[in-house]
Amino acid sequence: MAQQYSLSCVLCGRTHPHTEAHTRCQACGGPLELPVIRAGAIAQHFTMAQGRVGGQPLFSRYSSFYPYFPDFGVLDLGEGFTPLLEIPELADNAGADVIYIKNESANPTWSFKDRGTAAGVRRALGLGYSSIGTVSSGNMGLSVAAYAARASLKAVVLVAAGVAEEKLAPILHYGASVVRVRGDIAALYEASLVIGKEHGIYFLNSDEPFRVEGYKTLAYEICEQLQYDLPSYVVVPTSAGGHLRGIWKGFLEMRAAGLITRLPQMVCAQAVGCAPIAEAFQNGYDSVRRVEQPQTVAAAIKNPYPPSGDAVLRILREYHGLAIAVTDEEILAAQQELSHCGLFLQPASAASYAAVKRMGQEGLFSGRERVVCIGTSSGFKAPGLLSKQPGSIHDATLETLQDVLAGLK
Ligand SMILES: *Cc1c(COP(=O)(O)O)cnc(C)c1O
Ligand SMILES: [Zn+2]
Repeated sequence: MAQQYSLSCVLCGRTHPHTEAHTRCQACGGPLELPVIRAGAIAQHFTMAQGRVGGQPLFSRYSSFYPYFPDFGVLDLGEGFTPLLEIPELADNAGADVIYIKNESANPTWSFKDRGTAAGVRRALGLGYSSIGTVSSGNMGLSVAAYAARASLKAVVLVAAGVAEEKLAPILHYGASVVRVRGDIAALYEASLVIGKEHGIYFLNSDEPFRVEGYKTLAYEICEQLQYDLPSYVVVPTSAGGHLRGIWKGFLEMRAAGLITRLPQMVCAQAVGCAPIAEAFQNGYDSVRRVEQPQTVAAAIKNPYPPSGDAVLRILREYHGLAIAVTDEEILAAQQELSHCGLFLQPASAASYAAVKRMGQEGLFSGRERVVCIGTSSGFKAPGLLSKQPGSIHDATLETLQDVLAGLK
């Protein structure tokens, strides 16, 4: 039996009953959040430092931090328990002591979104919904489509008109309905909450409270993988802000439960062409301001008016976080560098390492810093890649193959 609890607004504190589907505060419109868990334990018999957990679902391992979760049996697709890779070349290049990449490409649909969707699907089932939805053409749409299929729910994915059709094919493949909507994607978020109520669709958008709960697991894993000795910085490519909020809540809970004593500094990484949080942070604004003409290669972090922007700002200010905007050139260079270390991430994901390089250039490192960069999703997903590669394909026949190989640099 799930316990009683309420959802409270992270901005004004007002509480909302958990028995109803609420995504935003009825008083101020702020994001809602579940209570911070203040006691809990993680079984000792397995540490993530030893590798991937065998057969243990994510929410079973961390069950003491999910007292409100109804049990719906096996709904998982093997989400979470992703590798934390130490890459010395990156640390050398950025001037940090150690850089780890938390490779979220290793999730079922190749992004961290699966952690949140896996949690949100349980919530939707708990409230008796038979349809879930989201607003996204990218990683979120794919993740919601996959978990809907796993849970035998219908999925509705709202996308903005003009999205490349090849991005939609995998979403359709899972059996989801895709609706292309002409209009502003940030406004679509608001509209979806109204439409969801009217049509009985539980919208698992970017910062829906249970999605954010799912993201906590990433922090727990980092704690386990580093034997509870936390890094100086955790760098998160940020768009809507749900991911950063969830990771942060996870660290707070680990500390409240006495499993860690020190918190890392959170770094919000954004692209210069769409950096509402970084701009608000650096200019001392009280709240984020809408970016009028967002423009960046990092499509997955291109939200011009992030629904959890103010909540992220508050975390950064209260706990000595940083917000860094990097250019598309820096992002693409970081992406290439990561690939040359064997890790192919999306431009949005490479923004975290690009931000670390910038921190190095700005003299923030003394050479003793350990940094975790969240590699949010795989580069294999990005469409139209071939035209952007510096190398070219060499043609040969069986007869000329020797010569062609000899001519390669
Ligand atoms: C969704 C996403 C982000 C941003 O996460 P938010 O919760 O919207 O801040 C970053 N990178 C990738 C690859 C994503 O798919
Ligand atoms: Zn509120």
